[in-house]
Amino acid sequence: MVRCLRVCATIAPGSDVGFFAKDAAMMQLADGIRRHGFKKWYERELLRGHAHLVVLIFCCLGLMMALEGATRFRSTADQLFDLMAVVVCTGAGLWALRRYMGLLLRAESIANQADCPRCKAYGRLELAASTSPASAAQTSEAPDQQVAVRCRACGHEWPIYL
Ligand SMILES: [Zn+2]
Repeated sequence: MVRCLRVCATIAPGSDVGFFAKDAAMMQLADGIRRHGFKKWYERELLRGHAHLVVLIFCCLGLMMALEGATRFRSTADQLFDLMAVVVCTGAGLWALRRYMGLLLRAESIANQADCPRCKAYGRLELAASTSPASAAQTSEAPDQQVAVRCRACGHEWPIYL
């Protein structure tokens, strides 16, 4: 399941596919866990994702209004304005959809790795002191981007992959 979500996050249009984007996402994950804890970080990611969904809904409404306005016979200036509104709403809506999918897929992928392998505690984790995000990003041996975390309940350490 985790593997499937990781593959989905890789091919999703909103996923950050570039190395630097993944690196930035890993830094953001590590920073978020350090500052707020995993559960708050996850909650914030879901809120960010759904904020993009709200933007998408508004773009759809704007697109429908612009299309309806374009069908009525009016001046050329009005039709050009409607056309511009269609282009802007379509572009912004596609961007919002891409961000929404990317944020949610990444958050779900990471949340599926938040169970402690030893004691099965969910989300009770903190950054492992041995691995800083900067050093993990520069490690060429690691095949994937990862953040080392430690269970607050039992102290077990494991990697979370982006
Ligand atoms: Zn544990």
